[in-house]
Amino acid sequence: MGYQETYLKMNNKKNFTKMVDFIKSCGSEVFEERCSGPVEIITLNKTIETACGTFRKGQQFIYLVGERYHQRCAENFFEDIENVPQGLIDNSQFIFTEYFPSDDMFENNEVTKICTHAEFPFDDIVTSEMVMQLEKDLEDDYKKEHEMLCPICSGTACNEIPNGTGGLEDCNFYCSCGWEENQTEMGGR
Ligand SMILES: [Zn+2]
Repeated sequence: MGYQETYLKMNNKKNFTKMVDFIKSCGSEVFEERCSGPVEIITLNKTIETACGTFRKGQQFIYLVGERYHQRCAENFFEDIENVPQGLIDNSQFIFTEYFPSDDMFENNEVTKICTHAEFPFDDIVTSEMVMQLEKDLEDDYKKEHEMLCPICSGTACNEIPNGTGGLEDCNFYCSCGWEENQTEMGGR
């Protein structure tokens, strides 16, 4: 427990807007109540080297402040929030501020001009149609990655399996009819 600041990044760039929209659809109240949540969107104007890799010009982050517990991982971040699209959970990366040149990005930004700060747009309106579209897009992405037509029964074969700790693990494609993708044929689909 304690105070923390965190950069939330999406590994797949096109999911960044979806993440912002989904957070907006949750409303600011849930984050205010837990005293931990998004305050800014930061866009890099320059490529930066950090303790956890290089981030290129144009990279965007959601900047989180408050209770550390909720900034450790997606599961904690979305705790008590319902219907979180799996595509957003799988795709997110939480990086504590200690790994970043945060002084240059905040106190000295007028000089360094490393990044652009914008208030997190909780006030923008998110319609239920927007949320439905975003859930549909993420579902389609998920299907592309984790589902295929079973060659035997034309049912849905899947390449994820519960790992026993509430999460999912990648595996060969398998179907409830008993068909399983042969390991030696990986990449052949
Ligand atoms: Zn089948």
